[in-house]
Amino acid sequence: MKNFEFASPQTEAEAVGLLQDHGGRTAVLAGGTDLVGLLQADLVAPERVVDVRQIQSMSGVRREADGLWVGALTTLDDVLASPMLKPYLSLVQVADAHHAIQIQSSGTLGGDLCHLPNCWYYRNGYGLLAMKDGESLVETGDNRYHAILGNSGPAKFVNASRFAPALIAWGAKVRIIGPAPDQVEIVPLEYFYISPKSANQGNTILKPGQLISHIWLPAIEPTHVSATYEVLQMEGLDWPLATASVTLDVEGGIVRAARVVLGHVAPTPWVSLEAASLLRNQMVTEDLANAVGAAAVSKATPLSNNEYKVQIAKTAVKRAVLKAVGQLEGGL
Ligand SMILES: Cc1cc2nc3c(=O)[nH]c(=O)nc-3n(C[C@H](O)[C@H](O)[C@H](O)COP(=O)(O)OP(=O)(O)OC[C@H]3O[C@@H](n4cnc5c(N)ncnc54)[C@H](O)[C@@H]3O)c2cc1C
Repeated sequence: MKNFEFASPQTEAEAVGLLQDHGGRTAVLAGGTDLVGLLQADLVAPERVVDVRQIQSMSGVRREADGLWVGALTTLDDVLASPMLKPYLSLVQVADAHHAIQIQSSGTLGGDLCHLPNCWYYRNGYGLLAMKDGESLVETGDNRYHAILGNSGPAKFVNASRFAPALIAWGAKVRIIGPAPDQVEIVPLEYFYISPKSANQGNTILKPGQLISHIWLPAIEPTHVSATYEVLQMEGLDWPLATASVTLDVEGGIVRAARVVLGHVAPTPWVSLEAASLLRNQMVTEDLANAVGAAAVSKATPLSNNEYKVQIAKTAVKRAVLKAVGQLEGGL
């Protein structure tokens, strides 16, 4: 690990100022469950680490007329305990599925959203594009956990965030602060992620000196239902092979609006418009859920070792749809 300065600001403005120095060669520390490992492995080598955990305004959940402002420091345990977040079932299901008390008490929503990919080539120092001597290590190597969608460009990793699919299905936005003092942007989370095209690009729109301070969730209506279905190899702490989150607006048993978002299948969370359009103005049945799953993966282009993920992603979508309307019990 390289030496770095350590700063612990009390306010968002102080944090932005501290992140701007050293030409933006700085890093945000939240729960630290991933960043500490990245620092130890020299995969991230900032000149200053800015620990944002003392910033009160970035904690807690606040209700406003049109929705909720959720602090980026909200931990997974806070998600499980918050009466205001409880109706957003698809989010609570993600927090609950972590099955690791240390991570649930320390890991934050902001840290989850900005979690760097778990691609083993990236984690062994080959960069996000995993290139060696001009060749993609993913294409020729072990790509069993890599992307099956959105993988025609140089990025083949899968986005690591577990909460992003559910948040995007709810139409969440992120409040980004910096790099200039008082600079604030509110961006739909759907547009926060990018699939890098060159080695000097990251996997989000965050520029040096910026951080997420809050996540905005729209107010929930009585007709809204949601669910997340994650496929994991282990019962305990694990990274999903594929996930699906759906949010539906159901009136009189008919789906009026739908959002379907897959996770761990592409370099960004994958919004499936094809799947959502099949649900609109329909009553959910198992046959329809099957067709929605098939539509979600209809454009999949698996790599040499990950064809199996297509079926898993399809099933995750089908089960998320059925789970959202309370039809998952038994027989699946
Ligand atoms: C040994 C170990 C194994 C794990 N395995 C799994 C697993 O199998 N499955 C799983 O789901 N989770 C796993 N995790 C947990 C995962 O790291 C956390 O769930 C969470 O995603 C990270 O949150 P954090 O607050 O600790 O982030 P940090 O480690 O503090 O930060 C993560 C990244 O986000 C950036 N960041 C943090 N907050 C912000 C912000 N507000 N704005 C901008 N950037 C920010 C950091 O700079 C860093 O790059 C594991 C953790 C550990 C320690």
